[in-house]
Amino acid sequence: MTENKSIIDLARAAEARPAPTEQPPPTREETLEPEEGSAPKEILSELLKNVQSKIGWSQLRLPSAGFNPSKIETIEIRPFTFEDERLLRTTKTISQGELIVEQLISRCIKGIEYKDLLLIDKNYILFKLREISYGDSYDIKAVCATCETENELQVELSKLPVVYAESGEDLEHKVILPDSEVEVVIKALKLEDETLLSDPTTLIDNMWRVVESIGGHTERTVKQGFIAGTTAKDISVIRNAIFGGSIGMQTKVNFVCNACDTGAVLELPINEGFFDAS
Ligand SMILES: [Zn+2]
Repeated sequence: MTENKSIIDLARAAEARPAPTEQPPPTREETLEPEEGSAPKEILSELLKNVQSKIGWSQLRLPSAGFNPSKIETIEIRPFTFEDERLLRTTKTISQGELIVEQLISRCIKGIEYKDLLLIDKNYILFKLREISYGDSYDIKAVCATCETENELQVELSKLPVVYAESGEDLEHKVILPDSEVEVVIKALKLEDETLLSDPTTLIDNMWRVVESIGGHTERTVKQGFIAGTTAKDISVIRNAIFGGSIGMQTKVNFVCNACDTGAVLELPINEGFFDAS
């Protein structure tokens, strides 16, 4: 997972697109509360018969697979309704975007509290919400590092592999630091960690919080002292490891440049089309 896929991007995405004035998808809410003089229920049920199965709740296994602090393995999830869509489109500022993503996820999942989600599970839920609400194919652009050609790619979200934890240890991440040669164990990030780690300055100050142990030591003073005392190279390795766990949706995409045939790997971005049908 990456720091790039933040709620800030989502907020920007929501902000950057036009309001959904034309033809919002028909939903159950609309059928339940017909306006005066509108179509009878029987007609609407007939027209919406193919939609019913697409707006219901379905089971979703979390990548943390029961090894998260809440010990929850499977939750329920449903696609966006017209009301959710309206909420999404009301985002005006980046700070609002954060709140709206929280509200949207809270409305569309059952079985776990939003605040108790691990970051890997939240990211997976975001991609699932996109897939079940707007469809599987997701258009992205990738600029070739060799010839700078902009490639247009279509990713099938349901084909991205998901790695599930098989033990609590799978959620931790171990690295041997290059200079101190000490082993550092990094915890699975919680949602509150995302905020602390989103800014490069606060990241350094708060790094000790997401470090489980350093050379087997778990005391806060040892962790803080080590981080303050070791080299920039060691710190850089810890920083990369924080966002580099292997559990969750695998969002690295391989592509071959149309113009020069160079192969490259791209971290799947969340762009302005993320919450939109292609
Ligand atoms: Zn190229």
